[in-house]
Amino acid sequence: MTRDVLTRLGIEGLQSGACTGSWIETRGEPLVSYNPTSGDELGRVRSATIADGEVVLAKAKEAFAAWRMRPAPLRGEVIRELGNAFREHKEDLGALISLEVGKIRSEGLGEVQEMIDICDFAVGLSRQLHGLVIQSERPRHRMFEQWHPLGPIAVVTAFNFPMAVWAWNAALGAACGDVMLWKPSPRTPLTALAVQQIANRVMRAHDCEGVFNLVVGDADVGSWMSDSKDIPLVSFTGSTAVGRKVAAQVGSRLGKTILELGGNNAIIVLDDADLEMAVRAITFGAVGTAGQRCTSTRRIFATRGIAAKLTERLTRAYATIRIGDPLAEGTLLGPLHTKLSVAAYEKAVAAAREQGGTVLCGGKVLERAGNFVEPTIVKAPPQASFPIAWEETFAPILYVFEVDSLDEAIAANNAVSQGLSSAIFTDGLRASERFLSHAGSDCGIANVNIGTSGAEIGGAFGGEKDTGGGRESGSDAWKAYMRRQTCTVNWSGQAPLAQGVKFDIG
Ligand code: NAD
Repeated sequence: MTRDVLTRLGIEGLQSGACTGSWIETRGEPLVSYNPTSGDELGRVRSATIADGEVVLAKAKEAFAAWRMRPAPLRGEVIRELGNAFREHKEDLGALISLEVGKIRSEGLGEVQEMIDICDFAVGLSRQLHGLVIQSERPRHRMFEQWHPLGPIAVVTAFNFPMAVWAWNAALGAACGDVMLWKPSPRTPLTALAVQQIANRVMRAHDCEGVFNLVVGDADVGSWMSDSKDIPLVSFTGSTAVGRKVAAQVGSRLGKTILELGGNNAIIVLDDADLEMAVRAITFGAVGTAGQRCTSTRRIFATRGIAAKLTERLTRAYATIRIGDPLAEGTLLGPLHTKLSVAAYEKAVAAAREQGGTVLCGGKVLERAGNFVEPTIVKAPPQASFPIAWEETFAPILYVFEVDSLDEAIAANNAVSQGLSSAIFTDGLRASERFLSHAGSDCGIANVNIGTSGAEIGGAFGGEKDTGGGRESGSDAWKAYMRRQTCTVNWSGQAPLAQGVKFDIG
């Protein structure tokens, strides 16, 4: 089955890792992609060197000169076909995500659906991209804002959303008239190759090769992108530690960044919450994607009247979770991505115990092939004395804290350095409004009676503080992919200056 999926997606043998529509002969080290379910090798890609990246960038710059002059709605037509091509290949693309990342089938397919959705969104956007008309203080003058494309954009992505994050950036960027250089995670090169093959066919049919480009490489290639003055925007999705380096490098040349970094997301559960709804949302948020989403639920703040019932019900729900092959029917928890992730899980569970936490369920690595661990609930002491909960451990570990009040819960939610996603479960209007108010959650995403993970593409996505402050996807996130120009046209036959300034020349 694995070979069939790879063959249908055009992935066979040692593949080149750089493409501008045509594949370039790359000169870097071979990267091996492993199936985290079995530990078996899935395929190999010869990574790109910085010199290969330069070749790709030169082609992208050429393509930009033509692409930006294609009217935006016609760019949208091309993106419509890209979305349709993803629709045709949805099953295989979803299966490949399961094979290379370990997501369960439904989540793999969901990620492909997200690519399709953002293409649809970008098609509509291509008929908008509108600026403002602003009243001028000078007679017979017209003042307005317009938006222009930026140029070649670096899209550096993380392993855990190996297709969707590219699509958020690429579909919007392409509608805006930009061209993209994609550097995927070196741990998920095959998903990137499969997407590039599909994009190549669509772009070739429209004579616009060089809009979507691929540069598979490691940190050196990412770092080269951060330094390159010919890349006006670096959209980076990954850990806070690497994001800090990217921000410093791009900032030092006064380039633009979109930073989508780590999260450490909490759900507040108040005494009046609908327990069953909360349990569903928490279990999906903490166990879904094996706890490897930036929006995964890691911390629960439950008030004292519900905390015991909640942990008891969660523990029962966890006992029913089927762990195994992510492509098998009924599996809810697949493997972690790598052996390093398994080691990080073990270290976090040990730290939780040392710091006074009680493991209520899970806590162990499974004795079988692949990178499987048990979903874990830890009853935690107060957060201030439990430093492990301040870190983002990319694994299915949930810390449950008891709190006395909503105020205490909000303060604890906001105490960590990350600020991505947050949620509250309550039937109380005052409590939910307080949570959403200026004095409430400080995160980029704040939900009521919905968990922290599983955002829709229509909203702007991203977070504050150590999460980086970037926004991608819906709403007006497109503005980050363009440059704003303020224009004033004088049709008066006079030359008045603003603010009444006189400057009469003889
Ligand atoms: P990572 O930071 O290890 O790698 C991300 C990307 O950065 C990879 O492509 C990697 O090759 C590249 N990279 C590494 N060093 C670089 C450098 N010096 N310069 C430029 N690029 C460099 O992250 P990961 O382990 O792949 O992904 C997990 C992390 O990503 C988690 O922290 C998660 O929260 C975060 N994430 C955030 C979002 C979001 O939208 N906020 C979404 C997905 C993942």
